[in-house]
Amino acid sequence: MENYQKMKKWFYNGNELEIVDTFNYLGLILNYNGTFLKTQKHVADQGRKALFSVLRVCNGNFFNIETKLSVFDTYVGSILSYGSEIWGFHKAADVKKVQSNFCKRILGVRQTTMHSMIYFELGRFPLYVIRRIRIFKYWTKLLNTDNKILKCCLQDQEANKSKWIINVRNELFQMGLGYIWEHRKSCNSSYFKTIKHRILDIFKQLCIERICNSSKGLFYQHFISNFTLQYYLAKSIPYRYANCISKIRLSAHNLFIETGRYNSVAKNKRLCKFCDNDDVEDEYHFVLICKKYKDIRCKYIKPYYRINPSVYTFIQLLTVHNIKELTNLGKYLSITFESRNKLRQI
Ligand SMILES: [Zn+2]
Repeated sequence: MENYQKMKKWFYNGNELEIVDTFNYLGLILNYNGTFLKTQKHVADQGRKALFSVLRVCNGNFFNIETKLSVFDTYVGSILSYGSEIWGFHKAADVKKVQSNFCKRILGVRQTTMHSMIYFELGRFPLYVIRRIRIFKYWTKLLNTDNKILKCCLQDQEANKSKWIINVRNELFQMGLGYIWEHRKSCNSSYFKTIKHRILDIFKQLCIERICNSSKGLFYQHFISNFTLQYYLAKSIPYRYANCISKIRLSAHNLFIETGRYNSVAKNKRLCKFCDNDDVEDEYHFVLICKKYKDIRCKYIKPYYRINPSVYTFIQLLTVHNIKELTNLGKYLSITFESRNKLRQI
């Protein structure tokens, strides 16, 4: 940059222009090297500030989860995606962190919880998917624009094989939509719809693949159904009880089946220390089997689930569409998690 500064001088109306490394154009940081690392960092900083304000307002139990997600989209998501039609091919790790921290926070699960499970549980798409949709919407709009300057810019991009247009082309071929690129001159509104559906479908498929191929997703595989905000999160179940259910469903708890993983204890040796069953202390044992919590279980879990229990009835319990049963399950988990934490400290 310094060498370039010595070589070139630029003038406008007779005044020498200052040569700078970065320039803020309409809120977007443009860097002399053409990468968008600083852009996404700046956008993430702005989004983080907005998130703090949002959390101050809706941190309590006043808003339900659906409203919190909607508030995030309106006041934070829009900032995090600002100008992403231009910089959106960047991986934007800082931007991703803001969204994933928020999602994990409202579910009350630990930061190491698998992203794919979080997105599935909330029925949310990560921001990189949203950015792809915005980019292709913009591209299809450019193809049909009557604005001569924009038309020239697009022609220029193609003639110079710019990184942005090459990415558009490559991603279309990677998604199996190369024909849209080949017929881009006759682009119509159905093209964008097709691209959008394909982007969303590919993400959902990738999510399922990641969950099914990971040892962390073994239990969650039972809950893979519709990609939507899960019933227990969408209904008016007290926030702390919904959080307890999330912890069990997403294996974000301190049961030995999970903590044993950190100390490399063999899976069949992660036995429950609070009863004499010699069972692995997993989610099923904790909720329906462990003798330690028998009295609490009798109070909050219906006989259908706890008498002659099986993994089948357990999954039924965790996916039931009944607010009272879910609230009771949340109460059971809240009390037993607390009781177990106390036992560990003794
Ligand atoms: Zn036990």
